[in-house]
Amino acid sequence: MLQVMTPEQVWDLLPRAFSPLVLPPETVSLEEALGRVLAEDISAQEYVPDFNRSTVDGYALRARDTFGCSDAIPAILPVKGEVLMGQGAALPLEPGTCCAVPTGGAIPDGADCAVMIEYTEDYGDGTIGVTKPAAPGQNMIFRGDDVYPGKVILREGRTLTPQDLGALAAIGRVRVPVTSRPVVGILSTGDELISPEGVPGPGQIRDVNRPMLRGMLQSLGAEVRDYGIIKDEEALLQNTLSHAIGDCHMVLLSGGSSVGVKDAACRVLQSMGEILFHGIAIKPGKPTILAQVDGKPVWGLPGHPVAANFITELFVRPLLAHLLGRSCPLPAVPARLMESVSANHGRAQVMGVHLETRGSELTACPIRSKSGLITSLAGSDGYFLIPRDCEGLPQGAEIQVTINSGEKSWLLHT
Ligand code: AMP
Ligand code: MG
Repeated sequence: MLQVMTPEQVWDLLPRAFSPLVLPPETVSLEEALGRVLAEDISAQEYVPDFNRSTVDGYALRARDTFGCSDAIPAILPVKGEVLMGQGAALPLEPGTCCAVPTGGAIPDGADCAVMIEYTEDYGDGTIGVTKPAAPGQNMIFRGDDVYPGKVILREGRTLTPQDLGALAAIGRVRVPVTSRPVVGILSTGDELISPEGVPGPGQIRDVNRPMLRGMLQSLGAEVRDYGIIKDEEALLQNTLSHAIGDCHMVLLSGGSSVGVKDAACRVLQSMGEILFHGIAIKPGKPTILAQVDGKPVWGLPGHPVAANFITELFVRPLLAHLLGRSCPLPAVPARLMESVSANHGRAQVMGVHLETRGSELTACPIRSKSGLITSLAGSDGYFLIPRDCEGLPQGAEIQVTINSGEKSWLLHT
């Protein structure tokens, strides 16, 4: 018999059954740091910028030399030189003069603002007229405005984004302390499975789950170890699993998770540890097992790729986030349902969708298919859950669509 739990019971159980991992820090290069989790606060050792800079193309000058000027009575100033990009400003600026400065160029000592070229007139004789009074500090970034020594620019625990890498580059931090990745093992079981590069013989199919799960787990920040395809043989499965559990923080096996004669996952896991549940009241994905072996989570996912996908999205993903010490509300967007959907199964139902933008709204087009058809998921954007007690949803209903894990999903977990 399956010990079936509702999705809510599973979500409740996961953080209670497993503690966050203690992952030792390591150092990676800036190029490798995208998506990694910072192991310590990052503070600057220097000033950024290290000199006062203009934010406009124009002239550096002293604001008080322009007081009272106007279109009718411009302030006339001699142009004493030009600041070049990538070079310091040469001489201190004399009162009553100005110097040309490009956007990002250094403001010379003696000047206290920059005036946009649009508010000046070049008389062609080495002088300009300023037609609008300037205020001190105008159009300038001061030394250390962005960053100063001791300023914390990124906090421990943050998942590094491309923008964060830019900030690290600005302060010259090219060796980045991050926590090591959690290691997750994957393996597929089934006498019918061959590896994706093979050509299926009669009754054989290619293994869909390992490449799919690898991608999902990697996009969620895990290091994946692949234990291959295992025949439906208990001894073989037990042997491989015990290696995987020894090497990894979490293991995902797929296939053989039901209660048939050939379904070995439950028996093997029972002999190795404790079954926390066998069965989730959800469609697709009911024959799901979660076991605890040596204190580690081991999932027996259903073999159907669509079911394996949804179970990983809905349950493995939040558990992984919890193991990483993150509270992970799954990233969801509101969308309007394009077609009515029925669901009278007495268990929660999860359905994939394509999202489209219609005017200012997102519309969700449900993907209806048998649960074995992986191509129905390829190209899908996300999924939504119809609760157990709901008989269906009308066209136009507002739903919350969770975005599939993928390239960007880790960004949404910070
Ligand atoms: P099982 O969970 O072992 O009963 O498998 C359920 C269905 O999913 C069967 O049709 C299997 O052939 C199929 N299946 C199991 N594992 C995989 C896999 N790794 N890739 C593709 N299909 C699979
Ligand atoms: Mg099987």
